[in-house]
Amino acid sequence: MALQQGNISIHAQNIMPIIKRWLYSDKDIFIRELVSNGCDAITKQKMLTPGSEDEYKVTVTVDEKAGEIRFSDNGIGMTADEVEKYINQVAFSGAEEFLKNYEGDDKGGIIGHFGLGFYSAFMVADQVTIETLSGSEGAAAVRWVSEDGMAFTMSEGSRTTRGTDIILHISEEEKEFADEFRVRQVLNRYCGFMNTPVYLEVVKEEAPKAEAAEGEEAPSIEVKEPERINPNAALWLKAPKDCTEEEYKQFYRDVFHTYEDPLFYVHLNVDYPFNLKGILYFPKLTNDFGTREGEIKLFSGQVFVADNIKEVIPEFLMLLKGVIDCPDLPLNVSRSFLQNDGYVKKLSAYITRKVADKLTGLFNTERDKYEGYWEDIHPFVKYGCMRDNKFFDQVKDTLLYKTTGGAHVTLSEYLSKNEGKLDGKKVIYTSDPTRQSASIAQYEAEGVDVVVMDALIDLNFVSFMEYSAGVEGLSFARVDADAATFQKEVSEDEKQQHQADEKVLADLFTAATGNSDLTVQLTALKDTSMPGMLVQDEQGRRFSEMGKIYGQDFKLPERYTLVLNADNAVVKSLIQQEAGEQRDLLAAQLYDLARMSTRPLEKEEITAFLSRSNKLLEMLCK
Ligand code: ADP
Ligand code: MG
Repeated sequence: MALQQGNISIHAQNIMPIIKRWLYSDKDIFIRELVSNGCDAITKQKMLTPGSEDEYKVTVTVDEKAGEIRFSDNGIGMTADEVEKYINQVAFSGAEEFLKNYEGDDKGGIIGHFGLGFYSAFMVADQVTIETLSGSEGAAAVRWVSEDGMAFTMSEGSRTTRGTDIILHISEEEKEFADEFRVRQVLNRYCGFMNTPVYLEVVKEEAPKAEAAEGEEAPSIEVKEPERINPNAALWLKAPKDCTEEEYKQFYRDVFHTYEDPLFYVHLNVDYPFNLKGILYFPKLTNDFGTREGEIKLFSGQVFVADNIKEVIPEFLMLLKGVIDCPDLPLNVSRSFLQNDGYVKKLSAYITRKVADKLTGLFNTERDKYEGYWEDIHPFVKYGCMRDNKFFDQVKDTLLYKTTGGAHVTLSEYLSKNEGKLDGKKVIYTSDPTRQSASIAQYEAEGVDVVVMDALIDLNFVSFMEYSAGVEGLSFARVDADAATFQKEVSEDEKQQHQADEKVLADLFTAATGNSDLTVQLTALKDTSMPGMLVQDEQGRRFSEMGKIYGQDFKLPERYTLVLNADNAVVKSLIQQEAGEQRDLLAAQLYDLARMSTRPLEKEEITAFLSRSNKLLEMLCK
């Protein structure tokens, strides 16, 4: 057989059902597509006749009664040949062909890519009419009508001015779209920043002509002014050096409908190696981390595409608010392919790097300001560090720790300041400054700084830092993890005596408290006024806290050590005293006092504590 070559032909009959059912996941995007086509037609006209005084606009008219939506523009229009070529051939993009043939310099601003947008109209309409008049010389108006996007009629049109009307008769099943509020909502969502003025016009039912009685006013007919959908400029397209602080703030308030100001922002602006513009804002923390959702709007050439696209914006950045515009991303169609796209990965890495640059920049040049922001941004930054190695590498030296004294220090500042006061490279923290104030005071008395780690994320973050910070032997310990720092040096003899007494006390305390899991340790503490403290091994405590957070069914036994002070008068007396009620009561009381400095007592524990206190007072007065 002789060699044959040719093109596979696609028949509308085969492709229309696919477009209708699969191509677009949301039906409402037909509005976006038709408004974009109007904007494109205007952009083309502007390119052909630069400097023209025409008042360009796209108007969307909703006629609820007639069940129609009309998209009207005064752009370039189409000749009969062009309708034949661009409309009758599905997937033949006139936008792309126009750019290929156009010789001018400024090729930006055209939205269309695929030549499929127009056909999205058939997802909701049972009849689509095009009325168009091309601006080219001698062109005649054309009307094109189709009910299913497959069969059409073309005839002489009725338009008398240059431009195009696309009229959709909405089908019975999709009636919800023939509705002023629905259309406004969709327009606001997708078209709020398009580069051409877009208006919404509503056809109101004519008020019945009532016979105005003598002396009465005739009923007024309500005429609604067309309403501008995109009054705000796309600030992200402006050069960062030309944007003022107030503009950034106002834009934030407009776009996110808030009265709050953001903390600060990052303006992304690159043309090469990819085209990416956008502004990311760091919002003030409003409620607890975890329940907070950011909002990043993704645009493609000023046309809104979707919120929070995880493929393009790293997940941890989703806590921010902002806009990202990537005109080269073919987002109109499917998102699934984005996941493994190298280009998308580069974009995402770039965005992350810019955010990290902003943080390190602030840290290096405006440390005061940066410290002021820390309370609001730290959960986000920490989360980012744990999610993204590269991000962590970039910002790790700018991570701050707030001390109970209100200062903000970096890890290396902390370690060098407290060097020699603690064994090894250790960071002492509190997860609850109020509850743990007694233990904090102990450290402060030793001149050791305690940092506050009270956010939900800190539990994971301390473990993360221990193995990722790259500091040999780094460990974090909560203020009540051990009493090592407060111990006094003692002689060998004393040590032996303590060991003997320890056995006596262990028996006493396990009996008096009914807690057989309790470990009792006797040692000399520097502060003689303190009878004892309850400590809980750091790793064991973290483990059981994790279990609680992740809702494990089995309950890990909580192991505590009661550290008793051999130099304290009460403890000394307990060792000497004869067995009896008073001794048991004192031991139980001492145990409760130690417990209370780490956690609130339970209901029954409080009752027991109060009645025991009363009893002890009575004994004192005998
Ligand atoms: P795309 O916009 O991706 O090129 P569409 O299916 O949305 O594909 O539109 C196909 C073509 O039809 C456009 O490229 C354009 O040439 C033409 N067209 C559609 N709407 C209009 C309009 N309002 N004015 C002028 N031409 C239009
Ligand atoms: Mg289009």
